[in-house]
Amino acid sequence: MKNLNPKSIAFYISLMVAVTATVVALTTRSMEINDALSCFVVFAIVFLISYFMIYVALERFIYRKIKLVYKTIHNLKLNRFTKDILGKSLRSEDPLTDVQQEVQEWAEDSHKEIEGLKKAELYRKEFLSNLSHEFKTPLFSIQGYVHTLLDGAMDDGEVNKHFLEKTAGSIERLCNLVNDLEEIAKLESGEEQLDKVTFDIYSLTKDVFEEMEYKAKISNIHFSIKKGCEKPFYVFADKDKIRQVMVNLLDNSIKYGNQDGNTIVSFYDMAENILIELTDDGIGISEDHLSRLFERFYRVDKSRSREQGGTGLGLAIVKHLIEAHGQTINVRSKVGVGSTFGFTLSKSAES
Ligand code: ADP
Repeated sequence: MKNLNPKSIAFYISLMVAVTATVVALTTRSMEINDALSCFVVFAIVFLISYFMIYVALERFIYRKIKLVYKTIHNLKLNRFTKDILGKSLRSEDPLTDVQQEVQEWAEDSHKEIEGLKKAELYRKEFLSNLSHEFKTPLFSIQGYVHTLLDGAMDDGEVNKHFLEKTAGSIERLCNLVNDLEEIAKLESGEEQLDKVTFDIYSLTKDVFEEMEYKAKISNIHFSIKKGCEKPFYVFADKDKIRQVMVNLLDNSIKYGNQDGNTIVSFYDMAENILIELTDDGIGISEDHLSRLFERFYRVDKSRSREQGGTGLGLAIVKHLIEAHGQTINVRSKVGVGSTFGFTLSKSAES
């Protein structure tokens, strides 16, 4: 009974009607039992008439309407996913099964699409509320400092400098936030192109160490390259973007490091990639935070991050940059022991 079409449905129903009509004719004694010819004539006439009527009714009133629904859904899908559907015939011998399949696929696609839209909506709401919160904190601080100065603190030589320094700190935080947001927006819109070149990641790391030395000195954190890794490792990547990745990760190792701590960078030659690992002996991160660490505005210790001028976007930018290279980044960490951030880059073919 699978794959019924109008002809077979009409055939089966007509057969039942014809048999019933013949039996009724026999039982009402309008025919003699042995009148085989009469039996056959009644059966044949009833069968042919009902077959014709049922077939026409099915074709006209039901199948045409179903075919119309099928074509509408099919065309709707065709418009959306032209490539997937091209090649499939619109006219089928078995429209009922086709309709069933198409409707099922259509419902599944629509369900996925709705789920995606719901997620995007939630993401947008969360992002907006995070954003307003991030802007509100330094703005309200600036407002408070300026009012305090205007209310008389300006004339007190001891405190006015202190309030102006605090105001400058909050303004710097706002600038960092705007810069990081701009970077994320560029990365997400895909408008930022990668300018891949061959370079030595070991030399780049030494350059970034020098650039950040002044900051590391404040907490007396010592940067070094792991023994055995002090040699060139050529990668094929966007040098400026990878510099930013190194800056963000080293900056975090200072912000979340302990006084007199150590940050060690190591390089590993894999089959096609170079693995770069940055290990610190800082405060560490507990297991339950690790899966969300690369999300925008996700912080483990909010007050420490803000105190250190963090925007909560550093790791999100790092992840975007590494993924734009078609590579991955991961983290291992233990509270009180330290953290290791590792990412891969393509090995240069020239090396
Ligand atoms: P932030 O601007 O707050 O530093 P990030 O995106 O760079 O934002 O980091 C997100 C959070 O991950 C930080 O707030 C901090 O809690 C945690 N984190 C990042 N790096 C480290 C690290 N090396 N050691 C411990 N915690 C870290």
